[in-house]
Amino acid sequence: MLSSADFQNRLIRYMPEQKPEKPDKAEKDAMIAEIRRLLKEKNAVLITHYYTDPEIQKLAEETGGFIGDSLEMARFGAGHSAETLVIVGVRFMGESAKILSPQKTILMPSLEAECSLDIGCEPEEFRSFCEQNSDRTVVVYANTSAAVKALADWTVTSSIAVDVVKHLAQKGEKIIWAPDRFLGDYIKRNTNADMLLWNAYCIVHAEFDAAKIEELKQIHSDAEVLVHPESQPEVIALADVVGSTSQLLKASQQRSARKFIVATETGILYKMQQASPEKEFIFAPTSSVSSGISCEADCPWMKMNTLQNLLEVLQSFNNRIELPDDVIKRALIPLERMVNFRK
Ligand code: SF4
Repeated sequence: MLSSADFQNRLIRYMPEQKPEKPDKAEKDAMIAEIRRLLKEKNAVLITHYYTDPEIQKLAEETGGFIGDSLEMARFGAGHSAETLVIVGVRFMGESAKILSPQKTILMPSLEAECSLDIGCEPEEFRSFCEQNSDRTVVVYANTSAAVKALADWTVTSSIAVDVVKHLAQKGEKIIWAPDRFLGDYIKRNTNADMLLWNAYCIVHAEFDAAKIEELKQIHSDAEVLVHPESQPEVIALADVVGSTSQLLKASQQRSARKFIVATETGILYKMQQASPEKEFIFAPTSSVSSGISCEADCPWMKMNTLQNLLEVLQSFNNRIELPDDVIKRALIPLERMVNFRK
């Protein structure tokens, strides 16, 4: 099992060195025009995550691409006719696209865009944990490498995790859950399933601070609190709605409140404001976790995707996601269960 000290050392090793520089308006417009042209010329489609730069989300929308959470991205990519999928997110999303569409070219603007959950769950250490608990069904979060998925029975996203584990628990199955310990704890409390939890966490969602959110609620007593379940239990306890990024976006549209305190990554603001321009969104305050890394609700790896490296990858067709055939074959089993799961 991963120790907290090992996890923190690994996080520091994988952190991007600096934030990318923003282009000026003329440079930005020129890059956008060229990206649009290349997408058409190369029969490629942009599939972006909600946490990426708003400029890239907008470009995906305007060019017939897609913005969504990792489950929706996987479904969209598998069903789209383009020969090349440009996955703008973090590495595990590109790997999932390759597993589901091995015949397609999968490009990513940066192959160094990681995820703290993936970093915290290396295949060999996870294999040994599974072998020590071989009587259990292995359920892993989508935020894992292809090699970890290849060890699993099920892959889930936060939008279906509770329903899948409930379904398995009703059949009497005991569960290994990896890698997010806070999401695992949330699922356990909502299903009463017998679960062994891995020890990693999302450095962005683990940073939301319950005491500071309570203070903010005193100031904005008319605001509702939207919380992603990768947050700590004390933060989840303050929520009016707990859900995946897509579920929080939907709640912000459907609920009658005019003001929301939002405890998820800042990139979601683009879609929340676009869908409800009359509503007010306030980001939940954070405090640095014990790793000493401070993100302020901004995922450092998601923000490695820029217009510049998106343009470069469309010009060069470098940064392809390639995976061994045996890994694709094995990881497809839990991933297809995820994509096809309906309540
Ligand atoms: S926000 Fe958290 S879970 Fe999402 S990619 Fe970043 S580190 Fe991973």
